[in-house]
Amino acid sequence: MKTELKIYTVEQICDGFEYNELEGKGLYGLAGQLTIQPEYQRNYIYADGKRDVAVIESVLKGYPLGLIYFNKVDDGRLEVLDGQQRITSLGRFLKNKFAVKINDLEQIFDGLNEGLQQKILKTELLVYVCEGEGEHAEEEIKEWFKTINIAGIPLNHQEELNAVFSGPFVTLCKAEFSNSQNANIQKWESYVKGPANRQQFLATALEWVSNGNVDGYMSAHRRDKNINEIKTYFNTVIDWVDSKFDDVYDEMQGLNWGELYERFHHLPLNHSELSAKVYELMHDDFVTNRRGIFEYVLGGCQETKLLNVRLFDKPTMRKVYQEQTDKAKIEGISNCPYCAEGHEANRHRIWKLEEMDADHVTAWSKGGPTDINNCQMLCKTHNRMKGNR
Ligand SMILES: [Zn+2]
Repeated sequence: MKTELKIYTVEQICDGFEYNELEGKGLYGLAGQLTIQPEYQRNYIYADGKRDVAVIESVLKGYPLGLIYFNKVDDGRLEVLDGQQRITSLGRFLKNKFAVKINDLEQIFDGLNEGLQQKILKTELLVYVCEGEGEHAEEEIKEWFKTINIAGIPLNHQEELNAVFSGPFVTLCKAEFSNSQNANIQKWESYVKGPANRQQFLATALEWVSNGNVDGYMSAHRRDKNINEIKTYFNTVIDWVDSKFDDVYDEMQGLNWGELYERFHHLPLNHSELSAKVYELMHDDFVTNRRGIFEYVLGGCQETKLLNVRLFDKPTMRKVYQEQTDKAKIEGISNCPYCAEGHEANRHRIWKLEEMDADHVTAWSKGGPTDINNCQMLCKTHNRMKGNR
C-alpha cells in the first residue's frame, strides 16, 4: 500500500459538497473528485447539535481536527476512509445546515463576518491518501480501515459487517432498514431497538431472516440485486407480533421475535386471550421478569421459569421447615413429604434446612400465592422433579 501525506483546505475539500437528508449522508467534495461516504461507511451520526458543533468550534479556535484518510480508487477518484463525520460536519456548516454559538449568538456560516468565514475556509486539513496495490487492493484497504477506525468511534458489529460484505445487497438493505426517514420506523420501534443510523434495525432483520447466521446470510446474498426475502420476512414477523398483542409494552422492545415467530406462528392463538393474560401478568407483583411474559403466554403458560416468579423469603422457609420437621420426627418419617411416601432409603431421612427448597403447594401458575400457607419444603431432588413437571 502506498501512502502520501497531503494538505487540503476546508474550502477545497468542501468544494461541491452536497448533503442527502434522506440517506443522512454527505456526498461529494474536492469538486466532485471525492466521495465522502462510500457505501461501506456508516451514515452521518454527528448531526446532534454537539459533535457537529464541536468540529466547527475546534476550527474556530485553531485546534487540529486530526488526521484524515482517503483511499485512491481505480479511476483516480478518492473516497474518505476515515474523517467523513468531520468533513460532513464542515460541509453542512458551510451550507448553513446548523448554527454555532459565537459571542452568545447562534450563528450560521452565512451570518459570520468575513474574517471568521475565511478562517474556516482556509483551515488546513492533513490527509493521508492511501493506494492499494494488486488484485487484493480493495480488501487490503478495507481491512486496514477497520484497524485505524478503532481510534475513532469504533464501528459496531453490523457496521463492520456492512464494510466486509459491501455490495448491492448492503446498499439496498441500508436504504430500507438504516434510513431514519422510513415511515415504518415508529412501528418497528415498538418491538425492535433502534436507532436506524447505527444499523440496529438491519442487524435485527438479518438476525431473524438468517436464524442467527448473519455472516453466512450476508455472504450468500452479497451480490443480490433485491432484498425481497429479508424485507418480507421482517415485515411478516412484525405484523405477526402486532396481530397477536393488542397493547404495546416497553418490555417488548428487543425481544427475539424472529425466534418466537418460528416457534409459535403456526398455532391458532387468540389475540384477545393472549392480551388479557399479558395484562394480568404485567400487573402481577410476583412476576419479576416481565420480558419473559410474551414467550410464556405464547407457549401456553407452561414455562413458569421464564417469569422468574418471586420466591418465598428466608423467615417463611425457616418457619415452614421447623413445623414440618417437628411433625416428621414425631411420626418417624422424612421431613420431605415426597420422600416420606417413597420406598427408598430416604423414607425416614430428616434433611437439613440447606438441603431443602421451598415449593408452591398449589403451583403459582394455577393461582397459588407466594405466602406461607402455600409453602412446603421439599428435598432438593424432589423440588427439582416437581419443577420439571
Ligand atoms: Zn424428597
